[in-house]
Amino acid sequence: ATPAATMVGTSIGARNGVLFKGGDVLERAKDVDTVVFDKTGTLTKGEMELTDVIAIDRTNPDLVSDGGATLEDHPKPDEETVLRIAASAERGSEHPLAQAIVAKANAQGIESTEPTEFENVPGHGVRATVDGTNTLVGNRKLMREHGIDPSPTEDTLTRLEADGKTAMLVARVPAGTTSGELIGIVAVADTVKENAKHAVSVLKEREIEVHMITGDNERTAHAVAARIGIDPDNVQAGVLPEDKADAVDAVQSNDNRAMMVGDGVNDAPALAAATVGTAIGSGTDVAIEAADVTLMRDDPLDVVKAIRISEGSLQKIK
Ligand code: ADP
Ligand code: MG
Repeated sequence: ATPAATMVGTSIGARNGVLFKGGDVLERAKDVDTVVFDKTGTLTKGEMELTDVIAIDRTNPDLVSDGGATLEDHPKPDEETVLRIAASAERGSEHPLAQAIVAKANAQGIESTEPTEFENVPGHGVRATVDGTNTLVGNRKLMREHGIDPSPTEDTLTRLEADGKTAMLVARVPAGTTSGELIGIVAVADTVKENAKHAVSVLKEREIEVHMITGDNERTAHAVAARIGIDPDNVQAGVLPEDKADAVDAVQSNDNRAMMVGDGVNDAPALAAATVGTAIGSGTDVAIEAADVTLMRDDPLDVVKAIRISEGSLQKIK
């Protein structure tokens, strides 16, 4: 593009809350044929709410207590214990999932305790010493890595995940034993952003392929993708933070030129790996730093706007 065209694109962008880091970014954005979205905080609001607390009958792990009910319906001490232990373990974590668990416990007046030891396990969950007992909160992978078989809870997890919720297992490994026991399940719901579906359909109309990458599990990822109109073949789930950049490379392996859109610290390497990295809205400083384009608003439709500006086809807006 001529310097003049670059200036026009950059200034139209700025007026529309789409910040390009220089003219070569506009050039690359013009050639994008694929958009890869992060799920949490990018396509969803990232405002997570704890919706389910389920106590596991430890005498018979195949029997999970009535999981159809919400926390409000079940003030039973057993569920309260599960929530108290989970909230205690998660107190030291800044993950949105952790914050949803802690916030619900606080709202219910449940007093969590400070863990004496805490370890964040990225892409898996947390491990902490709560009330002197080794405690785990996280996904199937975390449980398996500690020798706990999550399969008795599979039906319940599946039901929650089919609803688009993120289900987490709560387990304890009593002192002097090596085998842990599952004590409960907590599930967190997130809401899809208003324009997510519209953005995907406009991109597809423009013959741009739409993908999603997430650390969340397969089933939750597919439930959300279906709601938004992303093809199941284009969903990569259970991607560990350190593997997100490779996941972008995989999408680009057929000479595709991808724009990666993300918001989190986790997403910075993936943003850097893409032809164009785009940080969205409330994105973290790390994401914004790694990005070529920053969308000031939290609106997925601005992804379309960024591409149109780069094509020079959005001259007249505002
Ligand atoms: P995302 O792609 O949504 O940013 P992450 O890589 O942060 O995902 O996390 C992937 C998965 O790891 C989550 O869906 C959850 O199952 C588990 N997980 C991560 N952090 C925590 C936590 N603090 N507590 C419980 N589970 C967690
Ligand atoms: Mg994220």
